[in-house]
Amino acid sequence: MGREDRDDESFDDESDDPKLDDDSSDSLFQTEADVTCPYCGEAVQITLDPDGGEEQEYVQDCEVCCRPWTVHVTYDDEGAADVSVDMTE
Ligand SMILES: [Zn+2]
Repeated sequence: MGREDRDDESFDDESDDPKLDDDSSDSLFQTEADVTCPYCGEAVQITLDPDGGEEQEYVQDCEVCCRPWTVHVTYDDEGAADVSVDMTE
């Protein structure tokens, strides 16, 4: 323990490019977020998928009223997610 394998010099230590991080699926990325439904106003906790990338947009139904949200997720470089939900047309 304690000795990291740093033989591969083509990887310049930690980079901001998430595409280099194939091995770090257990990272610090936030995997849950509290959002407020734009239709019914209920606070709902949703599960995030960090593997989807730094910026994500997808449609998910509200657990409470079952109407479709457009969910926007943006991860910052510390793995914290900025999440917003909007009504889906
Ligand atoms: Zn709702």
